[in-house]
Formats: sequence, C-alpha cells, structure tokens
Amino acid sequence: MFFERRPRVQWHPGRLFEGARMQISFLKDLVSPRNPASPYSILQYTKARGRLERFVNLGEFRPTCLEYSDYLEWAAGDFADQFRYDSTVTRVTPVDPLGEGEPSLFQVEVSSGSTGERTVHYARNVVHAGGGRPRYPKGVPVGAAGLLHSGEFLQRFPATFADHDSPYVFAVIGGGQSAGEVVAYVLERYENAQVHMVMSGYAPRPTDNSPFVNEHAPRGCSSDTSTGPTRTVGGSRPLNPHIASRQDVRTAARRRCHARFADTACLPCHHARPRPSPSGG
Ligand SMILES: Cc1cc2nc3c(=O)[nH]c(=O)nc-3n(C[C@H](O)[C@H](O)[C@H](O)COP(=O)(O)OP(=O)(O)OC[C@H]3O[C@@H](n4cnc5c(N)ncnc54)[C@H](O)[C@@H]3O)c2cc1C
Repeated sequence: MFFERRPRVQWHPGRLFEGARMQISFLKDLVSPRNPASPYSILQYTKARGRLERFVNLGEFRPTCLEYSDYLEWAAGDFADQFRYDSTVTRVTPVDPLGEGEPSLFQVEVSSGSTGERTVHYARNVVHAGGGRPRYPKGVPVGAAGLLHSGEFLQRFPATFADHDSPYVFAVIGGGQSAGEVVAYVLERYENAQVHMVMSGYAPRPTDNSPFVNEHAPRGCSSDTSTGPTRTVGGSRPLNPHIASRQDVRTAARRRCHARFADTACLPCHHARPRPSPSGG
C-alpha cells in the first residue's frame, strides 16, 4: 500500500517548467537499469502514449520534466488499487498488538488532506520515502509575503507577482537547476524585472555526471533494494539546455540578470516544515 498526500502522482509539480528537461538519461528510468525488459520503462511509456517514434526521432536522451511526471503517473496507474492518494501519513509507531514484549507491527496513522478523516493501518514493514524538505538560509523569514521556495514556485509565483510589466527586483538564491529555471522563467515573462542570482562559488553548479560518479551509481542500482535513478547520473550536459540555448533569454540576461557570488554554502540552514499544500516535495 502506498500513501501519497497529493491527489495524484506528480513529479515536483512546483517546478514543472515548460521545456525543462531531466538531468538524467531516459535509460535511468524507474526500471531499466535493473530490468531492461520491464513493461514500466520510458520506452514502454512512449509506446503506450503513441509517441515512441517521435521520441526516438528527437535524438534526445533526457525526457522533459513534464513528460517524466506523466511517465510516473502512467506507471503508477497499473498499481492504482495499491495507492491511497490525498493521504498524508502523520505518525508511524511500533506496536505490540499480541503482547509479546516487543513490537511486531507498525501502526500507520493517515489523514485525508481534503476531508481530514483519519484512518489507522498496520504493517510489518514500512518504507519512508517522503522526499526532500525546503531548505532556507538561517534568518530568512519563512512564510513572508514575496518569499517563495522553488518547490512551490509554479503554484504561487504567478499569482504573487501578477503584474508582468512591473519593475520587480528579484533575488534568486541558489546555483542549481531549479535556480536556473526560475531565472529563465522570470526573464522571459517579466520584461522590466531585474534578477539577482545569489550563489555560492563563482558560477551555477552543474550536476556531477563525471564517469567517476557514474561508475559508482550503478552499483546501488543493481541491488535488490534499488529505487531507480540517482540524481548523480546525469545527461551529457549538466545545466538545462532549455536555459542555455534560449538566445532571447541570453540577450535579456545580459541586461537584467546580475550575479552575486556569496558563500551561502557556509550559512547555517534550517529545514522548514512542509506547507500543508499538496505542492510539497
Ligand atoms: C529541479 C529538480 C530536478 C531534478 N532532476 C533530477 C533528475 O534529472 N534525475 C534524478 O534522478 N533526480 C532528479 N531530481 C531529484 C529528485 O528529487 C529525485 O529524482 C526524486 O524525485 C526523489 O524521489 P523521492 O521519492 O525521494 O521524493 P519525491 O519525488 O519528492 O517524492 C516524495 C513523495 O512523498 C510524498 N509525501 C511526503 N510526505 C508525505 C507524507 N507524510 N504522507 C504521504 N505522502 C508524503 C510527496 O507528496 C511526494 O510525492 C531533481 C530534483 C529537482 C528539484
């Protein structure tokens, strides 16, 4: 049984930027490294969606993020009877129902996000895979108007900054893929905005997809406990070509994008509790 707090399977819905691509090859999908003949590969997915030939024709190893999210939803569809959506796990407690002196089961408490109804389930084994939590530099006023984490970007940013002609001044903190996508999004849609990229180091940070790292990743993937792709196994280009190849974004960036190199990596950070919204992640 899978408990998922969102109403359906979605891969980082707050960051499903149009045109953004995954950092990994489709060969690192949910199943192929362990079983290339699995019916749940991305190739099987594109075939089922009637797009296999187009996909092959693209000559692109990395699916778009939207496509990858749809792939996960498609794969989960075959296990619908084992999924409980809109179901947030609120507590897991070891229990001893038979009075044997030691816990033999886990009691899993689940709350419905829409109705608030609470249910209790029992399991011999529990796997916690709740994903990451938003991380902020210490001292940042979490929850303040105008402060957004990229994990909830698409749900909140367009409504929060509705005036596309306004001379907004934005600071984007971070130097990874999410930060790059946010900068591209803002430069494309807010013609009068200024964007300050604040990052540690002296340039946006690429995913480490060196052969050395890739050499190590498959070992984890070959075991029976493998959970699929690892972030470290990237495509041939580390930062999103969606950003790098957009000439208009580059041109705009020269005028309205400013880099600030701060040693934010040294700032103490704290993890914010996830918001109750389904954006999560
Ligand atoms: C912009 C970006 C690009 C990335 N690109 C790649 C990439 O190319 N390749 C790669 O391998 N990785 C990439 N990653 C890393 C990515 O996070 C992982 O691939 C993967 O999504 C992590 O899977 P997960 O199951 O651990 O977490 P998630 O995908 O976050 O899934 C966790 C799930 O648990 C649910 N949940 C959380 N708490 C509860 C609860 N209490 N009760 C019920 N449900 C709960 C959430 O709603 C969510 O659906 C990227 C991440 C980001 C942000």
